Amino acid sequence: MNWQIPLADLDYGPAEEAAVQRVLRGKWLTMGAETREFETRFAETIGANHAVAVSNATVALHLACLALGIGPGDEVIVPSLTFVATANAVRYTGAEVRFAEIHGPDDLTISPRAIESQITPATKAIMVMHYAGYPCAMQAVMALAHRHQLAVIEDAAHSPGAFLEGKALGTWGDVGCFSFFSNKNLSTGEGGMLVTQRDEIAEKARLLRSHGMTTLTWDRHQGHAYSYDVVALGYNYRMDEIRAALGLVQLGKLLANNARRGELTERYWQGLEASGVGLPFRDSLGTPAYHIFPILLPDGVDRYSFIDHMRAAGIQTSIHYPPIHQFQAYQTQYADVKLPVTEHVAQREVTLPLYATMTEAQVDQVIDAVKRGLQ
Ligand SMILES: *Cc1c(COP(=O)(O)O)cnc(C)c1O
Repeated sequence: MNWQIPLADLDYGPAEEAAVQRVLRGKWLTMGAETREFETRFAETIGANHAVAVSNATVALHLACLALGIGPGDEVIVPSLTFVATANAVRYTGAEVRFAEIHGPDDLTISPRAIESQITPATKAIMVMHYAGYPCAMQAVMALAHRHQLAVIEDAAHSPGAFLEGKALGTWGDVGCFSFFSNKNLSTGEGGMLVTQRDEIAEKARLLRSHGMTTLTWDRHQGHAYSYDVVALGYNYRMDEIRAALGLVQLGKLLANNARRGELTERYWQGLEASGVGLPFRDSLGTPAYHIFPILLPDGVDRYSFIDHMRAAGIQTSIHYPPIHQFQAYQTQYADVKLPVTEHVAQREVTLPLYATMTEAQVDQVIDAVKRGLQ
């Protein structure tokens, strides 16, 4: 499809091209100086003690679970209204997920009260997801975690550069995981970052990221080490230098681009105020990352006709998300799960285009198309 207005678009230019060329000319392609610099600068930007660059957010979430010692017999509480990787990462370890309900149509993030109702003696951790880059109720989640001695993992794939009470999303819990997939706020194609304030978690994540090996190719290349031992069952979850170099340029644009997304979001909110669609997160706190723009169609509007109408107008839309517990791969084991709020919201949700390089005129064009689609 040649969309007039795509759902998402990259903010790439000459600086990204120059960064890739720098790596190609340097002839060191994986986990070297660019990766270290990207980790350092990312950690500084969000005020994290440690940042560990990895191949994508899915493996960052897997490493987060492993570093926290989550495994068979354990349970982790997760939302169902999220990307499937959130729950899959828990299941890779042999642990099980328990799905918790969201707040409601005004706030699509996991509800602390719902989390509490899912706690069992097997619960090890809570995994929250900052939907669209809007903060979960982290004060309440952290209080709950302390009371029940649970770890907290933040799926921060939507929320790089977002803050709540001056503290970055991804740094509230024990581990935060970011995605640099092509359509995320900071894009490197594929890529991810695990952040933590805890030294031992960073150490474990670094070890497991590269086969559980005690020294890295880069160190041996630098003449710092001659051999290595393997001290754990590790993986190849590394990031390469081209992506790290792209990440450094994109990181420099992140906060300004998030602010731009915020302006466009505000324009959407005002333009759609009287349209009849539900507008989640208007009362959100903190400084969100405004990753995507979700609306909730009024009951009675057929979603697929609406999406077809938008498509005919050249506008790409999406759905965030089909709930995980209703996927075929989850259905049998999670047949008893009842999440009426999640299910209702998920049936009505449509995501409209939002990206930093979008113009006001394009937002207005989408608003007009939405209004016509509701008639
Ligand atoms: C994109 C995304 C992921 C997975 O990120 P990858 O980097 O593609 O592995 C996980 N959780 C959420 C909420 C996402 O949006």
